[in-house]
Amino acid sequence: MYRSRVIVASVMLAALALWACSQSPNFIAREEPWRADEERACLATGAVRESGFVTARSALGGPSVCGALMPFTVAAASRGSIALRPPALLRCPMVPALDYWLEHVVAPAARRHLRVEVVGLKVIGSYSCRPMNNVHGARLSEHGHANAIDVAGFELENGYTVAVKTGWWGALAERMFLRAVHSGSCNIFTTVLGPHYDRNHRDHFHLDLARHPLHGRICK
Ligand SMILES: [Zn+2]
Repeated sequence: MYRSRVIVASVMLAALALWACSQSPNFIAREEPWRADEERACLATGAVRESGFVTARSALGGPSVCGALMPFTVAAASRGSIALRPPALLRCPMVPALDYWLEHVVAPAARRHLRVEVVGLKVIGSYSCRPMNNVHGARLSEHGHANAIDVAGFELENGYTVAVKTGWWGALAERMFLRAVHSGSCNIFTTVLGPHYDRNHRDHFHLDLARHPLHGRICK
């Protein structure tokens, strides 16, 4: 009798734990009015124009703390010359930042260290309403605001792809290219995390436009 009660109690506890995990939000979120203000200001400047490869979407998130007012699906950047595979869903300020990064950091680094043009990005994350590093109870990730992109590789015009995972410790030219991209990214994005940061980032660069205290930047 006692045994069966213990089993019933254990099953109920397990069900409760499952229910708790399925409830949203499972992260710590803050009221951050600057986000909507910044996005509206960006939209008002016309910094992002729709084209064959940039499409405006309706608001994300609804009543949730996640989301963006008018995110864009970006299928290609740098005036369409660099494809994003798959297309990324990003809030307004990220779109010109990505263009600038590709034109002023990625393309010159590829020409210098690899002597080729970059024609595509392998994207493994953009908008996603989740806690940082998918850790239950952590702070809401910048991905939850469509304010971040995870790039795992760079497709070159010769058909070769430089993957962050293998190239970071790979042949000298690839290492130099990826390190130049990483350090150059820190001048454009406010958070840059790569393989040196932790195991979660061993295969990609995380780039975002978070606001850190004292206008600080995180470059690791
Ligand atoms: Zn990320």
